[in-house]
Amino acid sequence: MIRAKLIAFLILLCSCIQKDHQLILISFDGFRADYLSKAETPNFDMLVSEGVISEGLIPVFPTKTFPNHYAIATGLYPENNGVIANNMYDPVMDARYRISDRAAVENPEWYEGEPIWNTVEKQGKKAGTMFWVGSEAPIQDMRPSYWKPYDGDVPDSARIDSVLKWMTYPEEKRIDFGTLYFSFLDDAGHWYGPDSEEVIEAIQRADSLIGYLVNELKVKGLWGNTNIMIVSDHGMSSLSKDRLIILDDLIKVEDVDIISYSPAVQMNVKEGKFDEVYSSLKANESHYNVYKREDIPDRYRLKNHRRVSQILMVADRGYTINTRAYVNSRSNYPSGGTHGFDNNDPEMHAIFIGAGPDFRKGLKVEAFENIHLYELMAWLLNVEPSHNDGDLEKVFGMLK
Ligand code: AMP
Ligand code: ZN
Ligand code: ZN
Repeated sequence: MIRAKLIAFLILLCSCIQKDHQLILISFDGFRADYLSKAETPNFDMLVSEGVISEGLIPVFPTKTFPNHYAIATGLYPENNGVIANNMYDPVMDARYRISDRAAVENPEWYEGEPIWNTVEKQGKKAGTMFWVGSEAPIQDMRPSYWKPYDGDVPDSARIDSVLKWMTYPEEKRIDFGTLYFSFLDDAGHWYGPDSEEVIEAIQRADSLIGYLVNELKVKGLWGNTNIMIVSDHGMSSLSKDRLIILDDLIKVEDVDIISYSPAVQMNVKEGKFDEVYSSLKANESHYNVYKREDIPDRYRLKNHRRVSQILMVADRGYTINTRAYVNSRSNYPSGGTHGFDNNDPEMHAIFIGAGPDFRKGLKVEAFENIHLYELMAWLLNVEPSHNDGDLEKVFGMLK
């Protein structure tokens, strides 16, 4: 209690003497917590020695791209922000969400809570997103001052150049907060698996980009006044044809509507078939866990949203759940890697590095949940956070 009061007092004291530094939030999709040990990474190493590294950033469940990027942006668990999977069905909207469906991705009805860029803009500051999940939709009828519709073909260095341009505008146009997003490491992990040479090359490509960014910040006189946070949404696990669960062996697949795919499979069941489907999945529960929506473990922070399907199956690490038709239509499936498994699994944990004028130097901290980052960003940007599930105390030890 006394400790909590002391921390609250310190937070208050620090926010009074806080200077306004610009903040860049960078996500390398699928950058597993242990990836830095796989390759030579002089630029990441420099940031680590100048700043703070965590043993891991704990993702929300399901450990997929959209739920995690939006949890980072809002500080809310999926059941509180609406982005409960990469693919969803909403019974009230009677609509489906798929990450490849631009109209859905840009429809604000799918996104609940307040993303950090809105918190920034509402308080007279400016945000620019060179991609972030949710930033393309006018959530709360607002958008960042600068944003781009997601385009995976925009070259890496051009993304960095855009954010640097927004950071160096004259004061009335300049951003306080910018985001960057890169997917090539996740692509390499999916195609070749986390233990591949291609993943090592992708880690080095990420390192070169950090080198380019730091150098440009120095050239532009921004280094020393800019806080940088490097994050990821989840890790990666290896898949194998030897670890395959065929749904047709367990149920009549025509009885279900699969909403969200392996390894966290959400399905709705045709009228009158629920008991048959669920009891068969339960009776054969091996290398996966199956839950009725209301029995999903509380720690997943998922079940209290109407978009969650009637049944959730969660594959054990490295296992794949799919239909026979899907498996037969592909010659080399499953192979490579994926994510989406239990968020307690260390292989699903992501990278976190924070460096800059407000971060302590040369510190390693325990793994922490990514929903605390919203509070951390609000503090770094000197804005009042909106309602969220995070707790600044959990991350405050990283700050000067
Ligand atoms: P996942 O299936 O969870 O591995 O999703 C990763 C993919 O999400 C990446 O390959 C990106 O192409 C895609 N992605 C990331 N951000 C966006 C976005 N804002 N809009 C559409 N797709 C995105
Ligand atoms: Zn991802
Ligand atoms: Zn992925």
